[in-house]
Amino acid sequence: MRAGDDTKGMKLCVLGSGSTGNCVYAASETTHILIDAGLSAAETIRRLESIGAPARDIGAVCVTHEHADHVDGLAALHRRIRAPLYANAGTIEALEKNPKLQRLPWNVFATGHPFRVGTLRMAPFSVPHDSYDPVGFVVSREDAGAEPAVARIGVMTDAGMATELIRTRLRGCRAVALEANHDLDLLRESPRPWGLKQRIASRQGHLSNAQAAELIAEIAGPELKVVFLAHLSGECNRPELAVGAVTRMLEAKGILGVEVKLTYPDRPSEVAEC
Ligand SMILES: [Zn+2]
Ligand SMILES: [Zn+2]
Repeated sequence: MRAGDDTKGMKLCVLGSGSTGNCVYAASETTHILIDAGLSAAETIRRLESIGAPARDIGAVCVTHEHADHVDGLAALHRRIRAPLYANAGTIEALEKNPKLQRLPWNVFATGHPFRVGTLRMAPFSVPHDSYDPVGFVVSREDAGAEPAVARIGVMTDAGMATELIRTRLRGCRAVALEANHDLDLLRESPRPWGLKQRIASRQGHLSNAQAAELIAEIAGPELKVVFLAHLSGECNRPELAVGAVTRMLEAKGILGVEVKLTYPDRPSEVAEC
């Protein structure tokens, strides 16, 4: 840590990740937010409490895109905790086609334009994925002493490829939750229909372990301390393959000091302090 750097109080935990439901918790000392609500409301609340973050403290639920594994619990969670909801216009338009998700009280953000929730600055950036207007987020503190906002946490699941914009946004983060969806060989060998395999591997699909490893090596600066590997496919990936691909790449590039951690469909990850 650099002298004078105010690093206290940012936390990142992937409450659940995978095709069965995605939900990420990020917080400053005083502001707590969720990115996506793909777990059931009851499970989200239970997992928040298990990491010592009461659900009533959630100040916003920010949605990356409209796919069910990111929004299935949204309406019920909103009824339970009443936290303000944030998404861009494209995602809201897509969500409103779903009868369960109509007439929610949205706060609309514009992709590329940061907005503020309490002491957190949420910076949504565009990612390539087969949905209306998918985003990742960089979350940073914007309270006294943190001006201009220092990038702290990057969250990006569901992206078919790493773009220059993604690399630029995720550089300088201290903790990153990033998709490592599939091992390309396991995907090729899987009994899934050809069209689905094509979709997953496409530039609008999901990041493979190799793509995630390459991206992490590209964004890893002296600030980066921890990477959570998220959205692992249950059928086309294995935790040791994802972690192995990333750690081998970091070693090969001589990048030291980055902890590579897993996320899980059925339980929260570790809580990273950054
Ligand atoms: Zn998706
Ligand atoms: Zn997804």
